[in-house]
Amino acid sequence: MARVLDGRAVAARIRAEVAEGVAELAARGVPIRLDVILAGEDPASVTYVANKRRDCAEVGIESRLHAFPADVSRKELLALVERLNGDPEVSGFFIQLPLPGGMDPLPLLSAIDPSKDVDGLSPRSAGRLAVGLPSLLPCTPHGVIQLLGRCGVELGGREAVVVGRSNLVGKPLALLLLRENATVTVCHSRTRNLAEVTRRAEVLVVAAGRRGMIGAEHVREGAVVVDVGIHRTEDGGLTGDVRQEEVSDRASAMTPVPGGVGPMTRAMLLYNTLEAARLQAGLS
Ligand code: NAP
Repeated sequence: MARVLDGRAVAARIRAEVAEGVAELAARGVPIRLDVILAGEDPASVTYVANKRRDCAEVGIESRLHAFPADVSRKELLALVERLNGDPEVSGFFIQLPLPGGMDPLPLLSAIDPSKDVDGLSPRSAGRLAVGLPSLLPCTPHGVIQLLGRCGVELGGREAVVVGRSNLVGKPLALLLLRENATVTVCHSRTRNLAEVTRRAEVLVVAAGRRGMIGAEHVREGAVVVDVGIHRTEDGGLTGDVRQEEVSDRASAMTPVPGGVGPMTRAMLLYNTLEAARLQAGLS
């Protein structure tokens, strides 16, 4: 039976550390504020934003919401991004994705000042990560690395396989694993013989967005398996990309869904906001 990598417990520790950091800044008179840009009323996005703002309140970070109707123009959003970039009271901000009406987020993300890019998704932040410059890191991949590190999973020199190559998860995660000195392979929908490749992994991270696609046949005996996927089940619960019961007999450790990567993603947004506030104050 695989050891459970408990994202809820680790995320709670990170939130406590952030709360301490926020209090230290407050004692120095440095305010900390996260601004959120929400366009449209997609129910999932509205819930995510509410949860993130609740997390902020819990650790003492002020949050401000900039809500727009679904037919907001890119020009209007761009004007706000530029205003938030220049506002010294704003420590960091993010745009809740996806944008309504299939609006391309890239021109907006490209305009975000990297020192305020708490989602770490702007091309400039991505470029800084790629060339090894300090940057705010995308929350989900950073959450995975923090979870592994804080659970004592060694990455240096180990075979890591990432399933998925999105800008949100797979690609930045591959770069972060490289930074930890893992030997990294990235798989995607055109990978041939997926199971043959994933069976090489000592650390297997699955972020394909395909419910239950990874079974025992994909997993090397004793591997550490991280399941990034999130899917709603018929009974209203959550499940991942990994068939947990099957895989837990072969893996040495694995993340549950829910309670694995999800809480870590939320915690890393708070972590990044503290980091951004320190940057603004010249303390980092
Ligand atoms: P995405 O943009 O849809 O990317 C999925 C990636 O998986 C793509 O690179 C795709 O390959 C690859 N893929 C799809 N089917 C595959 C297959 N059969 N074999 C191998 N590779 C395959 O998704 P995402 O935004 O990265 O998210 C992935 C999952 O993580 C989703 O379930 C999402 O809900 C979840 N997620 C969770 C969190 C969290 O906090 N836990 C955060 C973000 C995302 P191609 O590039 O070739 O199409």
